[in-house]
Amino acid sequence: MTEKLYNRDAYLCSFDARVLSVTAHERGFLVETDATAFFPEGGGQGADAGTLGTYRVLDVQEREGRIFHLLDGAPAVGACVHGEIDFSLRFERMQCHTGEHIVSGILHSLYGAENVGFHLGDIVTLDIDRVIDRAALDKVEDLANAAVFRNLPVKISYPLPAELSAMTYRAKLDLTENVRIVTIDGVDACACCAPHVAYTGEIGLIKILEFEKHRGGTRILMQAGVRALRDYREKYRNIAAIGAALSTKQHETAEAVSHLLEANAQLEYEFKCHRIRAAEARAEGLSECKGSRALFLDANASYDELRALCLAAKDRVGGVTAALSESGGAYRYVMTASAFPIEERLKEIHAALSGRGGGRGGIVQGTLAAKRDAIEAYFAAFA
Ligand SMILES: [Zn+2]
Repeated sequence: MTEKLYNRDAYLCSFDARVLSVTAHERGFLVETDATAFFPEGGGQGADAGTLGTYRVLDVQEREGRIFHLLDGAPAVGACVHGEIDFSLRFERMQCHTGEHIVSGILHSLYGAENVGFHLGDIVTLDIDRVIDRAALDKVEDLANAAVFRNLPVKISYPLPAELSAMTYRAKLDLTENVRIVTIDGVDACACCAPHVAYTGEIGLIKILEFEKHRGGTRILMQAGVRALRDYREKYRNIAAIGAALSTKQHETAEAVSHLLEANAQLEYEFKCHRIRAAEARAEGLSECKGSRALFLDANASYDELRALCLAAKDRVGGVTAALSESGGAYRYVMTASAFPIEERLKEIHAALSGRGGGRGGIVQGTLAAKRDAIEAYFAAFA
């Protein structure tokens, strides 16, 4: 069996151990040692990273009480190896994990909410079985940070079965022996085997970010410690850049962006109206013609513009009026005809000009893959 050094000392980042077994694995070698400071993946938290001997630790998993390090090389069985864990990664996770205990403990005591899911990735995700709103979460955040500022000890204990059955703690287990209880007085008591900081002050800051309804309860996203600082730094840079670009005070950027979006929507609408009027104007100088006519707008004209031109020109055209615009190597079209329903001849036009599309009520739209010369010649001769 491997002695779990991280249970005794969450700050231990280097250790020496003897290799008990080595097994080949598709990604490297599974190595067991008589002791380890590497915390294995579990309970929503990833495995520690680092080195063991001269090899990189790619993963750490616990199986039936045994701990296996996945290494990118094989040390000799019986050899003594030196282990180093990536403590900056470990400490970030300790900050986030302990922060999550505080938030969950407060949610439990204020609202009776049970934590039903936890994941510590780049961001901390916790799920509770209650629907909760922003005002309640602001209160939780204030109380959580107050617990940080009080720098309370985070105590680890292994109560005797009789003591345990009399205790109130979260994540109550069926087990009665060797249950590891993590207690922050007045804030939380929870059964947990992960590494935590020794004092809440080490967390620095707890920030609740987003929340959403999730399976009848609420999913809460949060950051703590170094990661909260990194998040604040990135957001500050962003908001400062937006404020500078809009010549707005930082706390008014959301309102300024909202005004900008409204103004942009109005401009888009006006621009669209202008384009449609310009398309209609294209029909004004046209002479009367008994046959059919293909009229081309500039590239990437919208179907609305093509339709406007088609309808404005049709009274001067005896046969088919086709409004076209090149887009992505083909021609968008809108077509109508004065003397017959255009739908009746569409199959024939598509066959001649490699087209596709459809419509009803005497007006159709789609695309033609034929070249411009071919389209012009076809409608000039259309009868
Ligand atoms: Zn924990």
